[in-house]
Amino acid sequence: MIFKILTLFPEIFPGPLKHSIIGKALEKKKFKIKTIDIRNFAKNPSKNVDDKPYGGGAGMIIKPDVLQRALNYAKKGVQKKNKVIILSANGKRFNQKLAKKIIQNEELLIICGRYEGVDQRFIDSNSIEEISIGDYVLSGGEIPALILIDTCVRLIPEVLGNSNSLNSESFDNHLLEYPQYTKPYKWKTLKVPDILLSGNHKKISDWRLKKSIEKTKKERPDLFKLYLEKK
Ligand code: SAM
Repeated sequence: MIFKILTLFPEIFPGPLKHSIIGKALEKKKFKIKTIDIRNFAKNPSKNVDDKPYGGGAGMIIKPDVLQRALNYAKKGVQKKNKVIILSANGKRFNQKLAKKIIQNEELLIICGRYEGVDQRFIDSNSIEEISIGDYVLSGGEIPALILIDTCVRLIPEVLGNSNSLNSESFDNHLLEYPQYTKPYKWKTLKVPDILLSGNHKKISDWRLKKSIEKTKKERPDLFKLYLEKK
């Protein structure tokens, strides 16, 4: 899969995606990252990409004409199955389900906003899906893009050494993952729950489901409601 990123800060990438399991997948070309510097598409001598908002207000807005030229360039030679998204605090909330849908594409074009955001006409006239990574405001779309790419790449077949890792992760069936333990058996005064040493797979999976349900009910009543509805 190819991730094409339109950004004012291309040097941010691949950043953390160079490391660990995702870094190995990048090395093995299980996915590719291409950055396109939005500033290269500014026509004025000072290479400004933004201007004041109409109607007043703080900050600057990225201009639609500059973004359109950058997008047209990015779309040249695009893979057949592709999708264009823009990272935006007021978009649809990103989640595991959306990540699974995104990886059905061969190419994802990601537009990263900065300043106070981008001119809405650019988003509307290109019918670009706005995606938010959560209910908080960051200073740019680059960190959200890294989060989105990491989440998607883990789902690409053969990226995780043991694909079973994906089977019982948080958010599957609207449940958070059960608690996990490793050696030593006793740490400080705390022991690993004995059931996990029993060797009884049925009992272990029942215990894990019970713990997942308890944790979801406590930490994420919104998810727990969905779990009960789908049960
Ligand atoms: N004025 C905007 C608002 O109130 O919604 C915030 C703009 S923010 C300072 C600049 C850029 O950061 C946005 O255009 C977007 O690309 C990115 N951004 C900030 N928070 C985000 C979030 N929660 N999810 C995705 N992108 C976000």
